Amino acid sequence: MNDAADTLARQLEAIGNGHLVVVTGAGISLASGIPTFRGTDPGAIWKKDVTELGTRRFFESDPAGSWSWYTSRFDMVLDKQPNPAHHALAAIEGWHAARSGRFLLVTQNVDPLHERAGSERLVKVHGSADRVRCTRQGCEHGAPRGSLARADCDMTAFAHEPVIENLPRCPACGSLLRQHVLWFDEFYDEHADYQWGRVLLAAQTLSCLLFVGTSLSVGVTDLFLRAAIEMDRPVLAIDPGAARPPDPRVTMLRAPSEDLLPAACARLGIEAPGAGAWAGER
Ligand SMILES: [Zn+2]
Repeated sequence: MNDAADTLARQLEAIGNGHLVVVTGAGISLASGIPTFRGTDPGAIWKKDVTELGTRRFFESDPAGSWSWYTSRFDMVLDKQPNPAHHALAAIEGWHAARSGRFLLVTQNVDPLHERAGSERLVKVHGSADRVRCTRQGCEHGAPRGSLARADCDMTAFAHEPVIENLPRCPACGSLLRQHVLWFDEFYDEHADYQWGRVLLAAQTLSCLLFVGTSLSVGVTDLFLRAAIEMDRPVLAIDPGAARPPDPRVTMLRAPSEDLLPAACARLGIEAPGAGAWAGER
């Protein structure tokens, strides 16, 4: 753990005012009590059915079933709090900006924990659990740009009786609403909020790449990993459980991110609020 914190701190220092890109996945939110999508932790309740139920196909065949499935999961996600890893990343962003460095945080998570911790240069590439949108393409509340706060949806009738007639509807056009998340049978460029153009630009211009709590073999992580290796940029991955690096050029940091990121901050004199008070949900 000490070696890993030293390595990470040295690397962050060495970037100077370069472009630091951080990519986070479900592992960073585990310590906040949110089960992973595909993890091996006992709470990984989503791993069985997510590729089947997290699809537009399922929504179109059974809108009420899709809403029930998401409501049960997202209600639990939305009342969680950021842990010291989220706070440390927000603090690193501020520290790096203060030395005129470029920074982007790309998260695969739909939970709101990075925002709650204060991250600003943030892309939620898979959407947001706290938003919904209209299913009608081109509606002001639907793709390609529109969305609504989940909190503004009246779910009372649906909670009482989960049938299609009780689903919340778009206030502008009356169409069914849907989750504001990227489904497995959809594309990154379907909605402006996924900020796919910003992601591609970051992959082309990064000076250093840091993965936190994500498997490195799928979708957006693969894009960043290949880009960084092609450009011969340093790549670090914080993952306490990883057996071996996906590429020999990736420096694996095998420690929990909620311990390692605050420890690296401490070495750099970066104040990361929340770390001291953390009791943990592990
Ligand atoms: Zn609409």
